[in-house]
Amino acid sequence: MRYKAGGTTLTCPCCQNDTFDKDKRQLNSRGATFMGLDWANKVATILVCTRCSYISWFMVEPMEHSQS
Ligand SMILES: [Zn+2]
Repeated sequence: MRYKAGGTTLTCPCCQNDTFDKDKRQLNSRGATFMGLDWANKVATILVCTRCSYISWFMVEPMEHSQS
């Protein structure tokens, strides 16, 4: 799947591939809950390059490219 962020089609910074697998990761970090930080339980979107497996992290979910 191809994705857009900030109006630009995403390409892998390592291999220039433009297809990614999307996944989500929780941003829990040790001590954050204790500190009462707001972002402690936020979820980031990750895109994993299908060629070289480089991971890009996003706080806002990138848009999927429509095929039409
Ligand atoms: Zn790559």
